[in-house]
Amino acid sequence: MNYNKISPEILSSLKQIVGNDFVFTDKEKLEYYGKDETEDLLFIPEVVVKPNTPQQISDILKLANKHIIPVTPRAAGTGLSGGALPVMGGIILSVESFNKILEINERNLQATVEPGVINEVFQNAVAQKGLFYPPDPASKGSCFMGGNVAENSGGPKCVKYGVTKDYILNLEVVLPTGEIIYTGANTLKNSTGYHLTQLMVGSEGTLGIVTKIIVKLIPLPKHNLLMLVPFRNTEEACMAVSEIFRAGYTPSALEFMERDALDWVSKHVQSSVVKLADDIQAHLLIEVDGNNLDVLMHDMEAISEVVAKFNIGEILFAESQAQKDELWKLRRKINEAVKATAISKEQDTVVQRAELPQLIKGIKEIGKRYNFRSVCYGHAGDGNLHTRIIKDNMPDEQWNGEHIKKAIAEIFGLCKKLGGTISGEHGIGLVQKEYMHIMFSEKEIELQKQIKKVFDPNLILNPGKIFV
Ligand SMILES: Cc1cc2nc3c(=O)[nH]c(=O)nc-3n(C[C@H](O)[C@H](O)[C@H](O)COP(=O)(O)OP(=O)(O)OC[C@H]3O[C@@H](n4cnc5c(N)ncnc54)[C@H](O)[C@@H]3O)c2cc1C
Repeated sequence: MNYNKISPEILSSLKQIVGNDFVFTDKEKLEYYGKDETEDLLFIPEVVVKPNTPQQISDILKLANKHIIPVTPRAAGTGLSGGALPVMGGIILSVESFNKILEINERNLQATVEPGVINEVFQNAVAQKGLFYPPDPASKGSCFMGGNVAENSGGPKCVKYGVTKDYILNLEVVLPTGEIIYTGANTLKNSTGYHLTQLMVGSEGTLGIVTKIIVKLIPLPKHNLLMLVPFRNTEEACMAVSEIFRAGYTPSALEFMERDALDWVSKHVQSSVVKLADDIQAHLLIEVDGNNLDVLMHDMEAISEVVAKFNIGEILFAESQAQKDELWKLRRKINEAVKATAISKEQDTVVQRAELPQLIKGIKEIGKRYNFRSVCYGHAGDGNLHTRIIKDNMPDEQWNGEHIKKAIAEIFGLCKKLGGTISGEHGIGLVQKEYMHIMFSEKEIELQKQIKKVFDPNLILNPGKIFV
């Protein structure tokens, strides 16, 4: 597809649609919106627009269709697969102005939010009413609900409560051709026609721009308990994950952290809450929640007995809220710490839970063959392991060339062999699209491309993503 550049006339039309104050072409803004949290990639857009209403988004998309201009939707820019990067130039369409919680419906345990609401702001607002919205990416303090919907994001709580898709009932969406639609109904059950809501969730801003999100809420559990279990062997830490479930327990979080991850983040945030003994290779952070503290104590004890069958060090039980917060801060800041410590590429590998030991073993073997170190951490309870490949002294031509691509392809091949897939929650976006053929046959990819064309016949919305 050949895209056109933004002419002075198109710029003037954009200003007419959203007003002069919401169209930006200065270098500083263009550079800021040319990046997200994916490696150090930079793609400069031609213009950034910040519409305030669905109708303005509709008018922008109609204009872009008429002139064949690429439009990249952007939420908070915390994405890790390059989804919000304007790889073809054109317009960055920021949903920052859509930042209102429109309704918390306590009668039906539902809420309606705009896509620019920060996840944690929303969580706190519903918590004040005794309600709970579980999907909680580690980036919850900054990522937007719209970005979460587009990526079908997960987080630590998802092991017990499910990911974003499990909470989205209905969406208001502006289609690439400008029509404004609803995808479903605000009901807990819906068996009416194709499930457009679920198609839109996880579509990475390629099928439409979400302007209202209707979510399901649940009652907020009253209590939680947290413990950190050190393991002397990484694979055993992974084995313990499925053992906990097989013993009959479903933690509300079950996170894995390899030694380097915890070491680097402790230094990064200057925390001394965890004393890292020399012989410890990995940790599991395990939380249980519910309304009956006695039951939770019993569950924690029982889970301790399960993990004690492995070669573990001394378990740290968080005794105060401050200690819980400190442990969660360590977990949530790992990504930031690894990025600050080393040049790396992150893979969002996911397998069935019981295959985790095989996955981590295989990743380390591939690392030996391709000469890289890796740091693994993530939502082990979901079988979702974030693998950060560290550059160290790898020559640039290997790091940026076929060498590392082959290594990544092997890691993804291993995921597939183990019954898993190549992204659990970060999406395909820009950086994983060349590996889609590992997961899908030509026919399967072709079907997905045809769906894209039904929604976006001129391929103007977020081009260059998901498919090569
Ligand atoms: C430190 C850190 C920790 C993280 N931890 C997690 C984690 O635990 N779990 C997890 O799942 N992810 C995690 N992420 C990844 C990231 O935060 C999530 O993917 C998040 O949902 C992206 O939200 P965002 O608002 O930043 O979206 P952006 O990065 O701005 O955009 C993401 C995608 O959504 C599209 N988009 C944005 N708004 C809309 C809209 N209104 N309609 C349609 N499409 C839209 C964009 O085009 C893009 O494709 C983490 C990232 C960081 C940096």
